[in-house]
This record gives sequence, structure tokens and C-alpha cells, in this order.
Amino acid sequence: MTTRPPLRNLGIIAHIDAGKTTVSERILFYTHREHQMGEVDLGTATLDWMPEEQRRGITITAAATAVTWKGHQLNLIDTPGHVDFTAEVERALRVLDGAVGVFCGCAGVQAQSETVWRQANKYRVARLAFVNKLDRVGSDFFRVVAALRSRLGANAVPIQIPIGREASFEGVIDLVERRAIRFEAESLGEKVVVGEIPAELAAEAESWRLKLVEAAAEVDDTLLESYLSGGEVSIAALKAALRRGTISLRLTPVLCGAAFRNKGIQPLLDAICDYLPAPEDLGSVTALNATTMQPIERRLSSKEPLAALAFKTAADAHGDLVYARVYSGELREGAQVWNSRTQKRDRAQQLYLMHANLRERIPTAEAGSIVGVIGFKTTSTGDTLCDPAHPILLEPPRFPETVVSMAIEPVTISDRDKLLEAISRLLREDPTLKLASDKDTGQLVLSGMGELHLEIVRERLEREFHVAAAVGAPRVSYRQTIAREARVKGEIDRQLGGKHVFARVEVELVPARDSETPKVESRLSKEIVPLELHPVIFDGVKDALQSGGGLGFPLVQVLARVLSAEFRPHESTPAAFQAASAAAVNEGLEQAGIVILEPIMRFEIQVPDAAYGAVATDLEGRRSSIEEVLYVQESRWIRGKVPIAEVFGYPSTLRSLTQGRGTISLEPESYAPVPREVEKRLLP
Ligand code: GDP
Repeated sequence: MTTRPPLRNLGIIAHIDAGKTTVSERILFYTHREHQMGEVDLGTATLDWMPEEQRRGITITAAATAVTWKGHQLNLIDTPGHVDFTAEVERALRVLDGAVGVFCGCAGVQAQSETVWRQANKYRVARLAFVNKLDRVGSDFFRVVAALRSRLGANAVPIQIPIGREASFEGVIDLVERRAIRFEAESLGEKVVVGEIPAELAAEAESWRLKLVEAAAEVDDTLLESYLSGGEVSIAALKAALRRGTISLRLTPVLCGAAFRNKGIQPLLDAICDYLPAPEDLGSVTALNATTMQPIERRLSSKEPLAALAFKTAADAHGDLVYARVYSGELREGAQVWNSRTQKRDRAQQLYLMHANLRERIPTAEAGSIVGVIGFKTTSTGDTLCDPAHPILLEPPRFPETVVSMAIEPVTISDRDKLLEAISRLLREDPTLKLASDKDTGQLVLSGMGELHLEIVRERLEREFHVAAAVGAPRVSYRQTIAREARVKGEIDRQLGGKHVFARVEVELVPARDSETPKVESRLSKEIVPLELHPVIFDGVKDALQSGGGLGFPLVQVLARVLSAEFRPHESTPAAFQAASAAAVNEGLEQAGIVILEPIMRFEIQVPDAAYGAVATDLEGRRSSIEEVLYVQESRWIRGKVPIAEVFGYPSTLRSLTQGRGTISLEPESYAPVPREVEKRLLP
């Protein structure tokens, strides 16, 4: 068994433009110098899709990128920052153990950083804060630290302070080790110059160090004891206390720098190793026993049976690359593993450690690892892979149901197959995207999480797959049902091609609120109609219901009972019964009256307290009903219901009502009749 270096699985979270990409690139730059390129299997190195990503300037979009720093392996897990891709962030937070929040030294705590910070709170992810852009005019490290405390409620404690400010920002003072750290410009900051704290900053540094020691002592009893006993707190003891405080989420160490000026990155890497948790620091996970469905605890150790979570699929030209996090046990190359969702065996043919632009084939992945797997046949995002003798279900990342549909078609008809192929690849990557084809028109209908989501899919089809596609406007998926009961007879009784045909069917239509698709019951007996004609009548009624109502919306919540029928030998042919059944249903729907239904969404909107009034007033105009308002850490959580039609374009409204600080989650909840004015618009 190989001994693996200590691990850190971490993400970088930030508001757009705070410098996440610049920080990530500098991390790759400095760590690659350390990386022994000879260890990497260059033969299998470059992934086909990598050059594309590099061209787009986002080398880090691989779901996980491994780098090494001072004997540690850091797995950087990508967390897209955009507020419309909450599902993606949730997915990443589900598998990472720690995170670095990057903040702009001027703008400080911005909306999206607040959103992702809150999500990280929910998943109990330990964090460091990095205040970036301290070379910029108007930047102020201490103001941002204060905002971290007041706006995020973080126990943010500087472990560094800047040397100089704005254009004269030179480097950082390391408060823990009481030293000055500067970065030599000629080597692009690679050469780190450690020196004495400048005399003019000595007093300020001592005062901040004292605050640091006090803050650490406050959250850590071991340090408190040595602090109270009056002795000098050793560097090792202070670091150990800061580490425990960070991992238990009681404290957030704050660092500073200017990534763009190559300043501050190496001490950030040191802090990642010093303070963020290793997978084993987290002890155990709660999961379900896949046989009994009872909760169980699984220790995060390689000695336990295998449990790994597939958290992302990247469609690759050579087959899907599935990213998995191993929680316990070991995943071995070529191993048959048990997929506890599909209840099937699957084989991990090849395992890769993903580097920025290389992939390194590895024989085994131990507990805590994040690996790319090639060769899985049936495994997809959210699945647990485990030891068949110890079947277990890890909690998958949760993805909400799709809410909006748009028709999509290739601009050139001959591109249809290409479009389908491209979409099928996107579907495998993105669990929040669905494709269906319209029963009547054959038109392709794409459904997703929102309008922007679908727009980006369209852009990707064009940019990455070179298929130009046109999409229709976002639309509500309406349904229809009947207003009341109706009992009718449908008949056919006429000369047809020199022969008399006759059939009569009596049908009762009843509203059935608990049934989605239309149901049919038959009370016919063989005395009334010969047995072989029963299925004809049954199917005739069913088909008529399925295409029924005339408005083209699927009919739901209806029960049709076939009460009786009249049969005349020679005249009552199958075709006659089919026609009579359809006539009965159509007449019945007419009598019962049609009601158009719209999807109702359950929502939870989280807004800063100050924006609550404006958001609530706006919601009133959207036919919503507010059921509950919670007050949670200076924000309001508004829960209620709203028709989907009223929330097209809503995220951007919410953003402007809350300066980007509001978030909404929407889930389909039920169907309800549309109001009269909507009905008038929809009726022919
Ligand atoms: P992201 O959107 O969070 O990934 O941010 P980027 O890394 O793309 O940075 C946004 C902009 O800020 C870019 O123009 C960067 O060059 C710039 N930037 C990043 N770090 C710094 C910094 O330390 N100082 C200055 N002055 N600009 C920076």
C-alpha cells in the first residue's frame, strides 16, 4: 500500500471578480514548480477537453485538480460562483472539507460571497478568508475584516496584517511566527523573502498578535490554560489551537495579499495545510445502510469497507469521466464495485488523479481521495459505490426538479442528430437538465432550472458542439382537468359503405384529484358485450382522454368509468366501438367543463432584512401566498407558494430588489386552476 501525503480537499469560493481565478492560477503556478513532473504519467496525460478549457482561460474547471505543496496534496474542487448555479455549488460543497473565501480588498463582502458563505455554513465547511487586491486604491484590509465579522457573522481573526497599502503594498506580516514575508518581483513572486518585522509596524503587529492569541484562547481550552498561566504561547501551540478552532468552525483565520501582484499566495498555501481539515479530521459520515435503510455512521478510514460518492460526470470523447470522492475504504483500479442505487456491479477500469492539465493514472484511491474514474457503465452523479458485502447509501447532493421548458430545434434540419448527440452529453453532465419530445408535434423540449440555465445550454451547444439551435420562449407546462362529473352516452348509428354500423357506450367522468394521469375503469360484463371487445372500448376511452380536451394540454386528475354499452351482432364492429368510446369521452368532457391548471411552486426566498419590505410587496403582485417568514441571522426567509408563470425572470428582479443578496429556491408543489383572465387568454 502506498503512503499518501496528507490531504486537503478544498474549494475557493468568491463573489465574481474578487479574484478567484487569479488566486487559483497563482496556486497552480507556484505548486507546479514544486511538483515532480517525472511522477506524472505523461503518456496518458492530456485530456481532450483540456485545451478548450485553457483557451477559455479557466484551467481550473476540472471538477478537481490536485497539486502538491510542502508534502501535502491539495485537491482544489471547482465551485462555480454564479448565483443561478446554486445546484453546482451545492454539489461541490457536498464533497469538500474546507474552503478559502476570496474577498476584494475594496468591495469587501459582496452579495455572492455572502450567498456561498451561507451555503458553506449549511454544509459545515471549515474556512479561511483571503483579502485580495490590497494593491488597489481604496483597499482596506481592516475594513474588510470588520465586514467579515458584521456581515457574515464570522469570527474572523487576522493571522496576517499587510505591509504598506495600495501602490506601496509590499507583503505581509505573519502574526503567528512574528516575521515579515515579501515576494521578489523578478521571480514573479516565486522567491519568498522572510525578514524581521519593520520597526514602524512592530507595535501594531504585537497588538494584532495579542488579539489573535486571545481569540484562539477563547475557542480553545488547551491554549487558554497556557495563556492564563502567563507563559509565552509557543508557535506550535498557537497553530494547533487555530487549527482546532478553524475545523470546529469557531474561528476563521484571515490572510491578505494581491494575487495579481504575486503577493500572498505561498503563505495562503501554508495556511491551507496548517489550518484546513484533512478528511480524517472529520471523523465519520452519517449514511444509510442500503439494505435496511437505517442510518449508520461510517468512519472515514481506509480500513473500513469502501464507500465512495460519484459527484460529477464529465462527458469525454473516450467515455465518461466520473469524479468520485472516496469516504471510506479503498477504490482499486479494475475493481468491481457495488452501485447501491442501480443495485448493479460496475467496474472502475482506470483511476486518475486530475492535475491542472495532466492526469496521472493511479492504482488505488484511499479514503479521502478525489479521483476521476473511467470505465463505469451505469454509474452517474449522486450514486454511491461500495463494497457489496456492506451496502451503503451516502447522501447524494440534492438537485431540484426542473421548472421551465423551452422548445429547442436545430437551425439546420440536417443537424438534428448532431443536436441530440450533443444534448445527450450535456444531460449526462448536468443532473438538472431534462429532455423530452412533445407527443403531438415531435418537437424537442428542454427543461431546466431557469431561463438562464437553458440559455447557457444553448450557448454551449453552439460553442462546444458547433450545433446552432433555436429555442422558444420559456413556457409554463399547463395541464387541464374537468370541472364536475358528467355521465354521457356516445354512439354511432349509421350507414357506412352500404352496411349499417352501430355501437353505444355509456361513460361517467369523475374528478380524481389524487391521480396525475387519467384513469379508466370498466364495469362491462361479457353478457352485455363480448369479451374480445372490452379492450377496444377500454383503449378507446383511454386514447380519447389522452388526446382529449381540445386545448392540447395533458389531461390530469380524471377518472373515466365505462358504465355500460349496447352491442348488436354484425353491426357492432371494433371500429364502431372505438368511435362510440371517443364520442362518449368528447361529449363528457364538454359537459363536465374544462379547467386549466398551472404548476404551483413552493418557494423559499432568503433576503437581507433591509430588503424584506420591497420583496414582500413585489411578491403580493405575483399571485403568491406567503405562509411563513423566519428571521435567521439578520436575514428573512420567506416561504410560500407561487404559480410558476409569475416567476419567469424573477431571479433578476430579486437581484435588483436586494442588490444581488437574495436567493430563491423553487420546487414544484401542485397544480391549481388558473385565474379567469389567464384562462381567457388560453382558451381558443
Ligand atoms: P474571479 O471572477 O473571482 O475569478 O476574478 P478574477 O481572478 O478573474 O479577477 C477579476 C479581475 O480582478 C481581473 O481583472 C484580475 O486581473 C483582477 N485582480 C485579481 N487579483 C487582483 C489583485 O490582487 N490586484 C488587482 N489590482 N487586481 C486583481
